[in-house]
Amino acid sequence: MKEHIICVDDEEGILTALRQQLGVRFGDECEISLAQSAQDALELVDVLIRENVPVALVIADQIMPGMKGVELLEEINRRLPQTTKVLLTGQAGLDAVVAAINRAGLNRYIPKPWDEPDLRLTVEALLQIYRLHREKAELIESLHNKNLELQSLNQELDRKVHDRTLALEEANSRLAQLAITDGLTGIYNHRFFQDRLGLEVARSLRSQQPLSLMMIDVDHFKMYNDRHGHPAGDEILRTVARLISEERRQNDIVARYGGEEFGVLLVDTEKTAAAVLADRVRQRIVSHPFPLHETQPGGCLSVSIGIASCPQDAGTAPELLSAADQALYRAKRAGRNRVAS
Ligand code: GH3
Ligand code: MG
Ligand code: MG
Repeated sequence: MKEHIICVDDEEGILTALRQQLGVRFGDECEISLAQSAQDALELVDVLIRENVPVALVIADQIMPGMKGVELLEEINRRLPQTTKVLLTGQAGLDAVVAAINRAGLNRYIPKPWDEPDLRLTVEALLQIYRLHREKAELIESLHNKNLELQSLNQELDRKVHDRTLALEEANSRLAQLAITDGLTGIYNHRFFQDRLGLEVARSLRSQQPLSLMMIDVDHFKMYNDRHGHPAGDEILRTVARLISEERRQNDIVARYGGEEFGVLLVDTEKTAAAVLADRVRQRIVSHPFPLHETQPGGCLSVSIGIASCPQDAGTAPELLSAADQALYRAKRAGRNRVAS
């Protein structure tokens, strides 16, 4: 959009001369508009502001009927502070010039009659000032917008990082939980049980506190599987795991050791107390109405339990396991559905 240069003078001859002299040099790049009074000039300025047309320069005569040049420039300065302003006056009215400099942001004063090359140089310099001002304002605005954009991108990024971190933490903790959980029954798995067994045996020896281990094996489970199918067998294992877990005390560790065999670590527990707990588990299971349990030998689904304790039976984790296994074997041999220690 072409920049405007507005010339204001009540003498038509002056306006014609200005249009002619400025038109030769700036006609291609600027629109040169004329106004015969300050009032006309202000109306024009208002129209240009509304239409967003850049006003680069206003050249105003000082002595005009109605509003004077200084007042006009002052008014324009209020509306368009970046527009450059020239006061043109035939009087050597230095007071008006001083007032214009102070109040109207006057850039130049040109005495009448003027020298044409001087007028052109002045307008060239003022156009440059105006354009530099505009460029600066545009750069500042674009920088401001880019900053806002960057801020919102940053916020979005922060939110995303936060969300991803939460999701990652959740996935990690789910993964950690999965790594120690038996898929069929939801209780601890063999690996976790082995780790805890090692730790608890070491702790028991160090603290001189007793530790007991229960090995629980479902009786004649192969028979149940063969008669009713593997999925029905799976359901039995889930229920047995749940019943054992319900009998467990706060610090006991219940795990699926493998197949139809479960292990329970009883911290700070003597063998006699462990035997009482074991028999409670055995009774809980044998009295549970498992589906089709009446088809099992003895008319119900039962477990055998072997118990061993630290320090009396073992000084290491493998020894404790082996002692509990031997006790379990004795329980089986003695007729199943019983506890041996
Ligand atoms: P015992 O009283 O001597 O322990 O007899 P048992 O039949 O229970 O023992 P055995 O070791 O002969 O058979 C164990 C059965 O457990 C065989 C196997 O198919 C079954 N089993 C092992 N793991 C699973 C499982 O995850 N799901 C099902 N349904 N069955 C399993
Ligand atoms: Mg077994
Ligand atoms: Mg068995």
